[in-house]
Amino acid sequence: MMKKITLAVLFSIALFSLSKHALAFPENSLRPGGLGVISVLPSNQAKPYVSYNASPVALVKGQQNWLAVVGIPLSAKSGSHQITIKDKSGKVTKKRFNVKTHQYKTQRLTIKNKNKVNPNKKSTKRIEKEYLLKQKLKKTFSPTAPKMNFIKPVTGRDSGRFGLKRILNGQKRNPHSGMDIAAPQGRKIKAAESGRVLFVGDFFFTGKVVYLDHGNGLLSLYAHLSKIHVKQGQQVKRGEVIARVGKTGRVTGAHLHWSVYLNGNSIDPSLFITQNK
Ligand SMILES: [Zn+2]
Repeated sequence: MMKKITLAVLFSIALFSLSKHALAFPENSLRPGGLGVISVLPSNQAKPYVSYNASPVALVKGQQNWLAVVGIPLSAKSGSHQITIKDKSGKVTKKRFNVKTHQYKTQRLTIKNKNKVNPNKKSTKRIEKEYLLKQKLKKTFSPTAPKMNFIKPVTGRDSGRFGLKRILNGQKRNPHSGMDIAAPQGRKIKAAESGRVLFVGDFFFTGKVVYLDHGNGLLSLYAHLSKIHVKQGQQVKRGEVIARVGKTGRVTGAHLHWSVYLNGNSIDPSLFITQNK
């Protein structure tokens, strides 16, 4: 039975790969920090409800099937994972997929501002508050169909890939949850995709930030900004200038930190760039 399910999933992934370019989907990558595109039901049936680790999952109506686009957390263990599918009649089925191991590299950085590495009491209070807000923002799930045809938001040198194990001033920190693009202060940053401005703010670590909501739990975050050109609640189009590169928050120099969230997990943004690759 297990084998049958796995084969079915593999078959649907293979089928999907063939049509990927026509549909402009993100790259299927079953690893921690990656994503799975899994067909769940024929698309002539009513839209189901799909969840993974108790969170709702983005759904796209393909030509043949409803496709679940599942974000896999960086902390995921390799092996068998499952999504839960609830159809309109309330019938629940499970579908399994296999997460592969992936070795992310280590990056050592030196931060001059020591309070950004070992924050004092006052900063710690602020960080805790911001952490809770960030957790809440990440879990946003709006009902609109996800827009997934991303462009790279700024031109510049790749200065820190997604998933790097980080050592700051010799101390181990959380892995890198986004993509760093080094660019001069003031360079225009474009919206990776159309969406709604979910949040605009200024955080201790990430500095000035913009969060965009692209629908169905797909979000993008732009951090360390010098200037912000958009307001919360505003609709933006793909390619529209939303902010400028800066060095606010914890940085070694001017760059854009770009994160992409899917069903509450930060996912490798490079998987979403279907153009200019
Ligand atoms: Zn970064």
